[in-house]
Amino acid sequence: MEELVQRFRFVVPQSKTIPQMGVNAFFVDGLLIDTGHRNAQKQVMKAFGDLPIEQIILTHHHEDHTGNLAALKQKINVPMYAHAYCAKLMESPPPVCFIERKTWGANTAVSGIQPVDKTIETNRYKFHIVHTPGHSEDHICLYEPNQGWLFSGDLYVHHYIRYFMATESVIEQIESLKKVLKLDVHRYFCSHSFKEDSFVERFTKKLQFLENFYGIVVELHQKGFSPSSIMKEIKMKEQWLIRLLSGGWLSGINMVRSAIRDAERNS
Ligand SMILES: [Zn+2]
Repeated sequence: MEELVQRFRFVVPQSKTIPQMGVNAFFVDGLLIDTGHRNAQKQVMKAFGDLPIEQIILTHHHEDHTGNLAALKQKINVPMYAHAYCAKLMESPPPVCFIERKTWGANTAVSGIQPVDKTIETNRYKFHIVHTPGHSEDHICLYEPNQGWLFSGDLYVHHYIRYFMATESVIEQIESLKKVLKLDVHRYFCSHSFKEDSFVERFTKKLQFLENFYGIVVELHQKGFSPSSIMKEIKMKEQWLIRLLSGGWLSGINMVRSAIRDAERNS
């Protein structure tokens, strides 16, 4: 049977300090979803060279999803879409930290991305845009109700998360997971993992993980614990190498701080 959704996986070469990581981009009926990272540009341009790409959509502005948009725009110049905030950010992308630049490569500015907030259509499919902030403010998922597909970007990745970027929100991720769990999804497409099945089980597991984490952190914070003493109390290990190589942009303590920030905002 013809594979309706094509997955392209680009892997960061293994080094001693940086673990091997991969990022996925998807092609479905003329629509390219994300563009891979800049450090894989040769493979990306080779892989996408013969694809009949008619339009491109970004799940969010992070460099592992958008690193080749500028090169693709120059080569094929097709309509590009993203959440309005993503389109704005891409005009002058925020700088990436050392470890991200080493792993994924730089982000290049791209203008002319059209904001999309309801649907995007191909010849055969109609994808609903689901705004799912938390990992980033501009994050969207694409839901195709007739097929039961969800292109979930970085909303899931794994049910267990060890560190956050400084700007991530636990509460918004919880709300976004609840939002997609209301959809009738049979197959999901994650930007980093190969898993596609057991949507409800996997996404529920992540939701429960984040809800438990949020609950315990807020409780300890209200008792007067500091972020680092909360980590000790819940036996959460800091990811020191990642924290140092990212200049503090990525860390375990950012997860704790995020929960406290969210709780204070909501009180
Ligand atoms: Zn991301």
